[in-house]
Amino acid sequence: MDTTETINIIDGKARALEVREALKIEVDKLKAEDKITPGLAVVLVGEDPASAVYVRNKSKACEKAGIESFKHTLSAETAEDELLALIDELNKDSRIDGILVQLPLPGHIDEDKVIEAITPEKDVDGFHPFNVGKLMTGKPVFESCTPLGIMDLIASTGIELKGKDAVVIGRSNIVGKPMAMMLLAEHATVTIVHSRTQNLPEKVRGADVIVAAVGIANFVKGDWVKEGAVVIDVGINRLDDGTLTGDVDFAEVSQKASAITPVPGGVGPMTIAMLLKNTVKSAKRRIAKK
Ligand code: NAD
Repeated sequence: MDTTETINIIDGKARALEVREALKIEVDKLKAEDKITPGLAVVLVGEDPASAVYVRNKSKACEKAGIESFKHTLSAETAEDELLALIDELNKDSRIDGILVQLPLPGHIDEDKVIEAITPEKDVDGFHPFNVGKLMTGKPVFESCTPLGIMDLIASTGIELKGKDAVVIGRSNIVGKPMAMMLLAEHATVTIVHSRTQNLPEKVRGADVIVAAVGIANFVKGDWVKEGAVVIDVGINRLDDGTLTGDVDFAEVSQKASAITPVPGGVGPMTIAMLLKNTVKSAKRRIAKK
């Protein structure tokens, strides 16, 4: 039997395109009416090939949306002070609405120090403790892009989160924790499970919504998933043959889920779209302050 027709795949690529097209219209309006071009500074330290690809994709996406991108590529040997001085300059630069420092940074640089050096007003990644605190207290300004994009994808399925059971697998600062806060803000009952959780599959089994952000290929199995659950796969894992796969065993889980994101083409494209959205939001805040 061909079951592909019954699988409800959440098309993150198509949704991201819609978001980006809507942003382009907003950017054109900002340029025409407010004489402002939103600007995003992207800082890359070192030669990590994956980071270089991410930075290139972010710059390209900016250009397509009409956002000006200011790319700063620094050598892997750059001293922490030098990077902090650049951030200070970018904080003061009135052409720049968002500052993104691509992580991970080389080992000799303190990532927390760098994140905290970015003014919260331009922290479009939503990583600064100020913005993390605002999310935690239910008054978000800039929210972490990956979970923000996931909330959009969950909304696109039509599921009402109020009162539903959501399980987030993974507790990182950039995905798991902010994801849990965003689901909570929509009145879901949220459980976070992680590397030290006992009987993890048991805790996933009752969930109406599952978000997997673990970094282990095909971690979530079909028999962990309740019939009709919405399943979001954040993982990006490269297999030995070079193919990309998520944290969810797609073949098994797609038989149970009412909606599921693929990898690639699910969460990934939404992360960039939300970065652009946050940058445009920051530009609008700049106008409002004038
Ligand atoms: P991370 O390594 O910071 O965190 C992984 C989390 O998984 C940890 O909190 C840990 O407790 C949990 N974990 C690890 N092993 C586990 C186990 N055996 N059982 C249960 N939990 C376990 O990773 P991250 O930054 O949150 O990213 C997770 C995955 O999502 C990675 O594959 C990453 O590449 C991907 N990612 C994708 C995007 C995107 O835009 N699509 C963005 C960020 C991260």
